[in-house]
Amino acid sequence: MIEHHILIDEQHEGSWGHASVRASDKRRAPVTRKADFRDAMARLGAAVNIITTDGPGGRHGMTASAVCSLTDEPASLAVCINRNSRIHAAIEENGALCVNVLNGEHEELSGLFARSGLSMAERFANAQWERLANGTPGLLGALCNLACSVMSVSEIGTHTMFFCRVEDIRMGPEGHGLVYFGRSYHRLTSAPAA
Ligand SMILES: Cc1cc2nc3c(=O)[nH]c(=O)nc-3n(C[C@H](O)[C@H](O)[C@H](O)COP(=O)(O)OP(=O)(O)OC[C@H]3O[C@@H](n4cnc5c(N)ncnc54)[C@H](O)[C@@H]3O)c2cc1C
Repeated sequence: MIEHHILIDEQHEGSWGHASVRASDKRRAPVTRKADFRDAMARLGAAVNIITTDGPGGRHGMTASAVCSLTDEPASLAVCINRNSRIHAAIEENGALCVNVLNGEHEELSGLFARSGLSMAERFANAQWERLANGTPGLLGALCNLACSVMSVSEIGTHTMFFCRVEDIRMGPEGHGLVYFGRSYHRLTSAPAA
């Protein structure tokens, strides 16, 4: 069963806090402007992934960079997804997802899985997939596929954080990484900075 937590919007628009610490914190943090926050986040480079799911909730896929490693024992990660996205309800119903870590050649594919309005069939038709042990679609040619089961979720404002246990890992061919930084895509080589 998936545990569910809700982080409550408490002080002013755009902020949130956890119910258990709210009552004791009388101080008011300064309001952070949304535009400033977005500008700052544009400097936080992140690997680009396609999150997929399949099962009773249907087959869905979406580009996401808000993916974070949690612990290696158990192997676990977190994925943050907008509740307005089509994949959101499907992940909740299927209880499973796959993090497909994109390589440097996948910029166009990433764009398709982030483009509003394309049907799922149109998105998936642009690449080759294999069904992983948990039923989710694994992208062939991805740097790796991480097949996960959802352990718990936390709602934070407009998004849900899915906390996942990694059930199976498939390593793909080595290649360049794909990173989103400064509002554009960059290829990452494995050579260290000089
Ligand atoms: C580099 C990068 C990183 C990103 N990282 C994240 C991230 O970490 N987390 C995150 O949440 N988002 C992230 N995004 C944004 C996300 O990829 C896009 O918002 C994506 O389009 C969402 O997919 P969607 O199909 O649900 O949205 P949309 O296609 O915009 O659909 C939104 C709503 O429109 C309706 N709709 C649209 N098309 C159809 C259709 N054909 N049939 C039926 N209903 C339809 C549905 O009601 C749906 O809920 C990222 C984007 C990029 C480029």
